[in-house]
Amino acid sequence: MSNKQIIGFDADDTLWENEVFFHKAQMKFIELHPHIKDPEEVIFQIEKKNIKFYGYGIKGFILSLLEASVRFSNNKTDFQNIDKIIKIGKDMLAQTIQLLPEVEETLRHLSEHYMLIMITKGDLLDQQRKVEKSGLLKYFSSTEIVSEKDEQTYLEILEKNNISPKDFLMVGNSLKSDVLPVRNIGGTGIYIPHKLTWKHEEVDRTFDLERVVELKTISALKVWLKNQI
Ligand SMILES: [Mg+2]
Repeated sequence: MSNKQIIGFDADDTLWENEVFFHKAQMKFIELHPHIKDPEEVIFQIEKKNIKFYGYGIKGFILSLLEASVRFSNNKTDFQNIDKIIKIGKDMLAQTIQLLPEVEETLRHLSEHYMLIMITKGDLLDQQRKVEKSGLLKYFSSTEIVSEKDEQTYLEILEKNNISPKDFLMVGNSLKSDVLPVRNIGGTGIYIPHKLTWKHEEVDRTFDLERVVELKTISALKVWLKNQI
């Protein structure tokens, strides 16, 4: 190990596509429920309220879609729609992994010089399945699947792995979950935006930019790291 820096990677929409499948599922739901006005907002409000019960992930999302379907059925629940929503969820869970461009080459290169940790939040079984199917496990020293990515979670992970926050970089597509909490505990947050990011992950962009780095692509990370030395 030539460098004591440790790099954490978010997974969904940082290493592989994720939000696009939620988006497509939501479109299918909307087609089945043309009578719901402003369906995107309806779904978002139900999902947001349900996070404290279900956490993040496909199962919670599908339960929220079922709730929306029933709530807007005027007491005439369409069981065909219920059946179709369950099918939408199962298709999402069986979805093949689509790695984002240049992910594999970048991880291969970085894993030769740095210790890499994958830190992802969501449903344990689904995240485990994606991690295994991705074929990326060999580049990581460890994988952490957590239910929330806040300052406390990161502190616990760093403590467990004996890492000082100042040596820790976290790479991800969410300012709220990947970048700002790590910066706030003394690490560096590296923000790589994805064109689709869930509304719940959006933050007010007025935070100060100390130890926050924005890169256009994951491959730009190699160059940026080289320039730090
Ligand atoms: Mg993400």
